[in-house]
Amino acid sequence: MNTQDKETGTDFIREIVAADIRSNRHDGRVITRFPPEPNGYLHIGHAKSVVLNFGVATENGGRCHLRFDDTNPTKEDVEYTEAIMEDVRWLGYDWGEHLHYASDYFGRLYEFAVRLIMKGKAYVCDLSADEIRRYRGTLKQPGKNSPYRGRSIEENQDLFERMQAGECADGSRTLRAKIDMASPNLSMRDPTIYRIRKVPHHRTDDKWCIYPMYDFTHCLSDAIEGITHSLCTLEFENNRPLYDWFVKEVDPPWHPHQFEFARLNLSFTVMSKRKLLDLVEQGLVDGWDDPRIPTLTGMRRRGYTPEAIRSFCERIGVARKDSLVDVALLEHAIRYDLNQKVKRVMCVLRPLKVVIENYPEGQTEELEAPYFPDDPPRMGTRKVPFSREIYIEREDFMEEPYKKFFRLAPGREVRLRWAYIIKCESVIRDEKTGEITEVRCTYDPDTKSGGPAADRKVRGTLHWVSAPHCIEVEARLYDRLFTVQNPLGRQEDFKSFLNPDSLETLAAAKIEPSMKNAQPGDRVQFERQGYFYVDPKDSTGQKIVFNRIVPLRDRWAKLVKAGRA
Ligand code: ATP
Ligand code: MG
Repeated sequence: MNTQDKETGTDFIREIVAADIRSNRHDGRVITRFPPEPNGYLHIGHAKSVVLNFGVATENGGRCHLRFDDTNPTKEDVEYTEAIMEDVRWLGYDWGEHLHYASDYFGRLYEFAVRLIMKGKAYVCDLSADEIRRYRGTLKQPGKNSPYRGRSIEENQDLFERMQAGECADGSRTLRAKIDMASPNLSMRDPTIYRIRKVPHHRTDDKWCIYPMYDFTHCLSDAIEGITHSLCTLEFENNRPLYDWFVKEVDPPWHPHQFEFARLNLSFTVMSKRKLLDLVEQGLVDGWDDPRIPTLTGMRRRGYTPEAIRSFCERIGVARKDSLVDVALLEHAIRYDLNQKVKRVMCVLRPLKVVIENYPEGQTEELEAPYFPDDPPRMGTRKVPFSREIYIEREDFMEEPYKKFFRLAPGREVRLRWAYIIKCESVIRDEKTGEITEVRCTYDPDTKSGGPAADRKVRGTLHWVSAPHCIEVEARLYDRLFTVQNPLGRQEDFKSFLNPDSLETLAAAKIEPSMKNAQPGDRVQFERQGYFYVDPKDSTGQKIVFNRIVPLRDRWAKLVKAGRA
């Protein structure tokens, strides 16, 4: 699959927008919005919505608003608001002057509610939340009318004013739409429009003690902003009749229309802010920017690029059917993006010492190595020091190799990348544990690049670093956060499927000295090990921390096959 070929194809949303433009439906305007609730950090699912909303607007010369759906004062926080803005900007989008807050519309929403009361379309109800639930009925059974449904317009007006003035206790009353308690659509059974919450709001402080509900706020905020295409996820399909009802009955100057698309679900992770908050609060992950969780801040910290995320979102497309997207597709997108962008260097994650017995003690050679072997002129070269003592990857040595093990083993030869062919002569063990602590080898001086036997073939090629020259760094390797594809689709608590091995910290990895000036935020490929990112938070002058963004897949195997390694 080729992620670079941007989806030039269309989708049903883009088809609707194109048809509206052709028929000059909204005078050719396209205004969308991304409406997050500031109750957590954005995740890759939100990115799908951001890419769609901003994408559709930009492609059609329109605009996309960023609107915070901040109607729930108890769960929201400025921390989240700021983080969301940062994430949307990081993804590469700009809302210009159209930064909006539903809370800015509280005054108008109040007037809209009064309008409904005046039309006899809303009433103040004294049932408790529990009673409302019981009166609502079920999918099979119609609901029951509230005993307060028949209140007069004047009484409703008066009571709603009192609610607003703070005269009623929390939870003692609500304002409800008067629609149909027998509707087969539960969201049409006299839904709550306003509730009492005597808590300050992070933007309006204590100006209000009643707060509008999501459904009411959402569609009417779209109306206030003149949104032409209100895009949302499928779970709101059932709410569309209610959305339309509010718009029709309130009758603001602009009537928006809602279109639903499938939300993104990704395998081996969870996406809901509530679930992620649960993991964060219980300390099961290391904060909202833990590189293992699919928040945008976590993915940024891991080293994902906005280009890769955008390309992934375009690639998965927009459909009307829910599905579970394989996380491998996301990994493909980041590999594809970084493949052409970053240098290749050598880093040994789990070092095993190799002493080359016939290499003169105290001697050092500087070997020339291209940063981008596929096309060396592109990124130039660096010098890699070679000496008598080097490190190779522990897993690249086997005392009793299995049949297809083509790496180092007693009596066997391998090539050291950019250097010589070496042969294993013997091993040295720890006397107590029996563990191999050192491999003794000899090298063939004719086999380096330019030497008489430079072309001599051996089956394996290993990466390595020179022991006296390398730098010790920390490498963090991530695995899937959960052990099952869909941790939410089960009876057990999703947290019981957490992968205990989702993080492996290698505190003494050894990297070639060309990386000594690596800066926080740098990305690089460690040959055979994957793409890595210099952790901007934990890297210090003392120690560089590398996060593995994604391992390589088959790249080395392919190179070996093509005879280029
Ligand atoms: P969550 O359950 O994670 O909190 P949400 O839908 O409640 O998600 P909002 O802040 O209300 O989060 O979402 C803002 C926008 O992002 C909405 O338009 C919503 O439909 C969209 N969105 C949220 N999650 C996804 C997803 N997984 N895939 C696509 N769009 C999503
Ligand atoms: Mg929500």
